[in-house]
Amino acid sequence: MLADDRWAEPANRVEMVIKTEEARVPDCTSRARGQRPMDHPAGPQVGGPSRRPKSAASTGQIRIAGLTRRRGILRCAPFGFRARLHDMKHHEVIVVGAGVAGIYQIKRLADLGIDATVLEAGGDLGGTWQWNRYPGARFDSESYTYGYSFSRELLDEWHWKERFSGQPENLRYLNHVADKFGLRQYMQFNCRVDSAHYDEAQNLWRLRIDDGRTGDQRELSCRFLILTLGLLSIPTLPRLAGMESFKGQSFHTFDWPHEPVEMAGKRVAVIGTGATGIQVIGEIADKVGELTVFQRRPNWSAPLNNGPISDAEMADIRRRYDEIFASCARTPGGFEHEPDRRGFFEVTREERLALWDKLYDGPGFGIWLANFKEIFTDEKANSEFSEYIADRIRRRVKDPKVAEKLIPRDHGFGVQRVPLETRYFEAYNRPNVHLVDISETPLVSATETGLRTSERDYEFDIIVYATGFDAITGAFDKIDIQGVGGEKLADKWRTTISTFLGMMIHGFPNMLMPSGPQSGSASTNYPRGIETGVNWCTDLLEYMAAKGYTRAEATAGAEKRWTDHVTNMYAMMLMRKAKSWFTGYNSNVAGHEQGTIRYLVYNGGAPKYVNTINAVAAKGYEGVVLSADRGAPPSGSQPTVVV
Ligand code: NAP
Repeated sequence: MLADDRWAEPANRVEMVIKTEEARVPDCTSRARGQRPMDHPAGPQVGGPSRRPKSAASTGQIRIAGLTRRRGILRCAPFGFRARLHDMKHHEVIVVGAGVAGIYQIKRLADLGIDATVLEAGGDLGGTWQWNRYPGARFDSESYTYGYSFSRELLDEWHWKERFSGQPENLRYLNHVADKFGLRQYMQFNCRVDSAHYDEAQNLWRLRIDDGRTGDQRELSCRFLILTLGLLSIPTLPRLAGMESFKGQSFHTFDWPHEPVEMAGKRVAVIGTGATGIQVIGEIADKVGELTVFQRRPNWSAPLNNGPISDAEMADIRRRYDEIFASCARTPGGFEHEPDRRGFFEVTREERLALWDKLYDGPGFGIWLANFKEIFTDEKANSEFSEYIADRIRRRVKDPKVAEKLIPRDHGFGVQRVPLETRYFEAYNRPNVHLVDISETPLVSATETGLRTSERDYEFDIIVYATGFDAITGAFDKIDIQGVGGEKLADKWRTTISTFLGMMIHGFPNMLMPSGPQSGSASTNYPRGIETGVNWCTDLLEYMAAKGYTRAEATAGAEKRWTDHVTNMYAMMLMRKAKSWFTGYNSNVAGHEQGTIRYLVYNGGAPKYVNTINAVAAKGYEGVVLSADRGAPPSGSQPTVVV
């Protein structure tokens, strides 16, 4: 994303700051260091080798910014803390979600020796790549830009087999990371967090957890709550009558069965033509008996141009990793694809066509992100480019009537998230693939044997719902999150989303979201964004530990400035007009239907976002009130109140 706007510096800041002496807080946890958490589930949960990093088990010294302090400082709680919590289990940090962000977050915390656990609703780690097992699920990011960058050893030992790697390999990778760094021991699976309430008096979060293995409810508490819930982790189904009556197999792509689904010879329906539907359709068209696609609105799409990565290519990638990550850090999208800096209207039409031909035949998001930046902001430029892509579709789809139906009319190329495809348009040239335009003949209901439109009944063996997600905020809404004074996050966000840097929320102290709404993650190459977010949140914890702070809360003013900044940037982007999850649209979620823009993503690009959050940190977390617990200063500290 390319919007440009200034992040206004706050004019005034009034904060209560309590300074404490460094490094004198004793480790008062009752659990021996290195010991498995008392409440860690036994039994079937995979327990990796107990390789808790040495740092956690040691009382060694580390030097940060010239100060010497003990490791594990954050383990400490105010006096009397544990006594009051005799009926609960406590961790200094609880991370919710063991996906790409949660895995990296626990790695950082474990390395610092902070007492932390990860709670994951699913049966295993991996998030997106654990759940989405549908045929065709794969990266749209170049694999080697998707992997974590934090470990040279990991980069050197992992061989990405394809330029855009598929779900099974991606899940293997995440498991490899967790096992290599001994991270499973910190994870508790099948644990759904139902509620998280901030207890102002104790300065801690109280969580109620539904333990899927036992069916029991239990409680945990923590000082810091880190939500790595995923952007697209709450699937949404159509509000379609009779869905339960269907006698065949049916599932949302997110809930694709773990066991193989026999599709050969079957009559299969796919509802939805977003990034997911487009991947599924391209993959299964030649493997099923009959495939009927129910399309409400077509999506602009361009070739993925995937291919294998040979040993020699992988060796070259390994040599270039520094350069690769540097270019990801330089580009707005966090990819290798650099925008074409020439002005759209300053070059000739022939030059534009030459670029587009090259990009269309090139890999990945180049067609979107290495394009002229005006296609994001200028109607005329966008329209000329959209027409170019429309012609490409016409050239690939034999039946002109079908081709016209596959060309979007209500939005231009790239103003919604661009799905990348493999053999998608060619699928419609097959005699066994049928396109039903449900904008003309709407779906009326599911039946025992299939689907009914306003025109006729269709019979199926399998119905695939590729109908998207309650994006970005859906996973937050699923948890009853209450902050200071019992304020509910769902209420706060009901009409407008507001955050500070996409990572903190006023009224919800010590709650961090490394990849939250309005953060740099949603609109960029996700792992690049999450590494940035996790590092910032972890650095904040380290800073607090070093200074003896125990409470961090974004100010209302800082939150407003950030939210205004995010909102203003939408004004520059054509995407503000699109019915897409970037604008909070979802026809299946009450209140999120067309008409209400929700300002969910940051459009300033990765470099600007990183500069901004780093500047906030460099100024001692400007915009965040940092303090120590009321009435319970850390042991050994000499608090000084500075107002
Ligand atoms: P999506 O982009 O929201 O698309 C959902 C599709 O289902 C749309 O075509 C939508 O039609 C249709 N639909 C929804 N409700 C419907 C209903 N009641 N009746 C008929 N049609 C309905 O969801 P998605 O395809 O799952 O993709 C979501 C995001 O996931 C992507 O944008 C991408 O960020 C991510 N993703 C990434 C990858 C990857 O990295 N490779 C792959 C897949 C997905 P309308 O447009 O008319 O609403």
